[in-house]
Amino acid sequence: MTHDLQTNPDFLFVSRHHPEQLQCGTFTLPNGTRVDVLAPGIIQFEPTTAASDDIVLSCGVHGNETAPIEICDALVQRLLRGEQTVCQRVLFIFGNLQAMNIGERFVEENMNRLFSGEHSRGPGLVNAERQRAKLLEQTIADFYAKGTGQRHHYDLHTAIKPSQHEKFAVYPYRADGDYRQEWLRFLAACEVHAVLLSNAPTNTFSYYSAAQFNAIAFTVELGKVQPFGQNDMSRFAAAETAINQLVCEPQPPWPPHQLQDFSIYRVNQVILRQQEDFRLGFGDDVPNFTAFNEGDVLAEETGAIYKAQQNGEAVVFPNAKVALGQRALLTLIPAGQDDFVVPNGAVST
Ligand SMILES: [Zn+2]
Repeated sequence: MTHDLQTNPDFLFVSRHHPEQLQCGTFTLPNGTRVDVLAPGIIQFEPTTAASDDIVLSCGVHGNETAPIEICDALVQRLLRGEQTVCQRVLFIFGNLQAMNIGERFVEENMNRLFSGEHSRGPGLVNAERQRAKLLEQTIADFYAKGTGQRHHYDLHTAIKPSQHEKFAVYPYRADGDYRQEWLRFLAACEVHAVLLSNAPTNTFSYYSAAQFNAIAFTVELGKVQPFGQNDMSRFAAAETAINQLVCEPQPPWPPHQLQDFSIYRVNQVILRQQEDFRLGFGDDVPNFTAFNEGDVLAEETGAIYKAQQNGEAVVFPNAKVALGQRALLTLIPAGQDDFVVPNGAVST
């Protein structure tokens, strides 16, 4: 029997706009690739030959971060049409379909704070984002359980703010301290040359896969948010090529790892908003990774002044409007070879 996607390979369009019409199930492409349509926005490909890697590519966990969604959408369609063939097991996840449809980061709740079981804590599975996060966790668990290869998970995003590093990645905390430099090769091929080392557990998607399944996992920020169709895709060309090579070439031709190609940062201060009058010491237009000098005021509130503790201390993810007790700002200091095992501060984007 022919599957609908063999005549109309626009998997994401059907998932977003006619999810009730999506035909779930398994079929085989003429080139032998096995395709499992698991749910709206979730599709898996398996090659005919043994795979060395089990790769999760997720995008659209924030619905308005369009460029990675467009890259994955196009790749899924090429795979379904047989124009490209996977040589690894690959699970594509288009995270928040409803948020994509309204062009927003999320509908009710930031999904990238709902993993590692957070979806079921507090009020429980009260909204679509919490239910979806639970489904995505289970899907990844099943995917890795059926594979025997090296596990990867690249959770692809674009940043809201401008950044001194247009592309950067967050390396989730690893309890074993096993931060591997060679895993940065794929990032370099994506033209990601800045990496933040996190060292505390968090609720992000990439941390879930790293912590639960020992996957090579990163949150990858590929540039700045733009509406669908308005991305300058030339800025994403390297990432698109590297992603294609990751899933379709048994030995991707990436350059050897050189730490000097990267700006590596570790967390120095985690500044929480404790008072209603919390305010940042710099303007909204200050890009991520802007460096300050020792003594510069980074934020103030009743009872506290937060200053840079050393020259070159950089700021990321500033948000003075978070709820009381939540993180309003992270500061970073340069790290290096010796710092691949790092001090305090969870990093989540
Ligand atoms: Zn995002």
